[in-house]
Amino acid sequence: MKAIQMSSFGEPEVLKLVEVEEPVPTENEIRVRLYYAGVNPVETYIRAGDYAFFNPDLPYIPGFDGAGVVDAVGPGVTRLKTGDRVFVASSLAKRKTGTYAEKVVCDVTAVHKLPGSISFEQGAALGIPVTAAYRALFHRGRLKPGETVLIHGASGGVGTLALQLAKYAGAQAIGTAGTEESMELVRKFGADAVLNHNQTGYLNEIPSITNSAGVDVVIEMLANVNLEEDLKLLNKFGRVVVVGNRGSLDFNPRLTMAKEADIFGMAVWNAPLDEYNESLVAVEAVLNNGGLQPLVGTKLPLEKAAKAHSQILSSKAKGKMILEIVKS
Ligand code: NAP
Repeated sequence: MKAIQMSSFGEPEVLKLVEVEEPVPTENEIRVRLYYAGVNPVETYIRAGDYAFFNPDLPYIPGFDGAGVVDAVGPGVTRLKTGDRVFVASSLAKRKTGTYAEKVVCDVTAVHKLPGSISFEQGAALGIPVTAAYRALFHRGRLKPGETVLIHGASGGVGTLALQLAKYAGAQAIGTAGTEESMELVRKFGADAVLNHNQTGYLNEIPSITNSAGVDVVIEMLANVNLEEDLKLLNKFGRVVVVGNRGSLDFNPRLTMAKEADIFGMAVWNAPLDEYNESLVAVEAVLNNGGLQPLVGTKLPLEKAAKAHSQILSSKAKGKMILEIVKS
């Protein structure tokens, strides 16, 4: 089968299109014929070779996320059968052969049904972004129905899904984005209020939006820029969940005291397996009930994986970047 493989760590050019043997599923594993793979910022960190959570043995086929149809099942698999439409979220699977490939083998727990209303392209946009969104909102942020959440960076892969999950759970959601176009998108996905994080003073509107109460939870995509301001926006006992961060900042810890605010780190890799599996079962249910429409942004052919890696950290996000493996 065709796959993108890297034999050394380094710049995007280490990603090469090669022919490799098809992986074979063993007990409680499943093989999926992939139509699309999701591209996540984390895969660029892993490719560069200095990612704190994960340094794979080489050669390595990247990719945790994708969508397609079940192609083969190993002994013990009863929940899914050959031909089922599925999405793959294999970041925490014990075995994961990489989704930048025509086929992937992984634990059956990492594979879930995709309803007919969700395309394979959209299915590839779930995986890491949706498990990150779910974990940030509910396992770390403990968001409750009726509370207000600020999704600071709501136009990207994680943000658009977090926004929809928060609304589905009965929260009030404020989203930020960096351009008029992406603000429109955030509005379309159900935000009660939308702010532009590139405009000076954009957070001044939060007191009037929240009737002076402040927000209960912030889901933060760029903590090194926003963390100090986030703490000023919180309601009493508010929580900030750090999902994304690209540097450090000078910050006054006193801001946590008056409100007894909590700052939570979140990394999908740390999820206990029961919480991870719970998030995927919940996502499958929300998909079935029409509560989630993953947004696909840039689509590139599999062989352009290196270009995808060059673009993903620099381009303005308008949904999830995916690789096309086979036209569905
Ligand atoms: P993405 O699709 O590239 O989206 C990036 C988001 O950040 C966009 O909504 C972007 O908005 C927004 N942004 C840009 N400048 C901002 C600012 N000053 N303040 C707030 N938001 C700003 O990336 P993603 O897949 O959603 O991931 C987002 C971040 O979370 C990345 O850093 C990623 O590495 C991280 N992440 C962490 C985990 C984890 O386990 N902790 C899991 C998944 C992702 P505009 O483009 O509209 O300006």
